[in-house]
Amino acid sequence: MAEDRPFAVRVARVRRLSPVFTRVTLADDDLTHFAAHGFDQRINLLFCDGDRREYTADDWFDRWRAAPDATRPPLRTYTVRSFRPEACELDIDFVVHGDAGPASRWAGRARPGDPLIIIGPVAGASDPAADVAWAPPAAGRLLIAADEAALPAAAAIAEALPPGRPATIVAEVPEPADAVPFDAPDGVTVHFLARSRGESLLPVVRELAGDLFGTAAGRAEPDLVDESDWAVPDPDAAAEGRDYAWLAGEAGTVVALRRFLVGERGVDRRSVAFMGYWRRGQAQPN
Ligand SMILES: Cc1cc2nc3c(=O)[nH]c(=O)nc-3n(C[C@H](O)[C@H](O)[C@H](O)COP(=O)(O)OP(=O)(O)OC[C@H]3O[C@@H](n4cnc5c(N)ncnc54)[C@H](O)[C@@H]3O)c2cc1C
Repeated sequence: MAEDRPFAVRVARVRRLSPVFTRVTLADDDLTHFAAHGFDQRINLLFCDGDRREYTADDWFDRWRAAPDATRPPLRTYTVRSFRPEACELDIDFVVHGDAGPASRWAGRARPGDPLIIIGPVAGASDPAADVAWAPPAAGRLLIAADEAALPAAAAIAEALPPGRPATIVAEVPEPADAVPFDAPDGVTVHFLARSRGESLLPVVRELAGDLFGTAAGRAEPDLVDESDWAVPDPDAAAEGRDYAWLAGEAGTVVALRRFLVGERGVDRRSVAFMGYWRRGQAQPN
């Protein structure tokens, strides 16, 4: 199995979708070798200034790790919002949350022609399970809870759902104008919550859980200890017909959501994927 490799790309277009979201379209002929896995596929982005050649070789990771802290380029995780193989183009929807983070700063200033390095899988030599967390059973109801960092993934998942599959998406964004629409098939209900209106994920998920997990609720695990902010159940362990929750966003929030579903409601932990996409007050470790 080949490992991910660098793809040197350039910004083709930049489009402001809403106050917080900027869509950056990246392009290069080399993307013809990129393996798009869909759903919540994650890739890494390497933000380097100047000469990028040292990080486009296969040994990029060793070079990156060996670089002094002061010059090591920031590496951040993002979602493939969409991929158009015929045009060798890939979209990323960035949350532009200010200049404190190098990725947000870069996206806020991105212009056509700017260079960037994508670290991603190679067509024909990669396992989707390595970069896609979404793995629900074939039947059963679906709950997707996301904040703005996870909305690109939630939207990509929704767009790929088969028509008629019952799914509820709850998305918390900073303000109403950030409720960027996406194409959800029949059967999908979308609730946008705006923090500026005082709305947030946990109370709404609490309210919806009775309907969604009414039949799936089992023994609550009140002593559930969350040692991590990331657990993706093994797809083989998910029983057919069981409801499934995909929770992603700020780490403290997703831990609280999972604690509610598994610890209080008794939803089977093998039916809950939870992923801390970012941590309030903490940069992604480099
Ligand atoms: C699997 C995965 C997929 C992701 N997909 C996307 C995506 O498609 N789009 C996207 O925008 N993000 C996505 N993220 C989140 C993104 O990787 C983080 O937000 C990352 O920390 C941004 O890097 P930065 O350099 O801007 O900020 P950092 O240097 O990591 O952090 C600097 C400061 O900014 C704060 N901060 C970081 N992220 C946010 C945020 N979203 N909102 C407010 N404050 C923040 C931190 O708490 C810290 O105080 C994804 C993360 C994961 C793990």
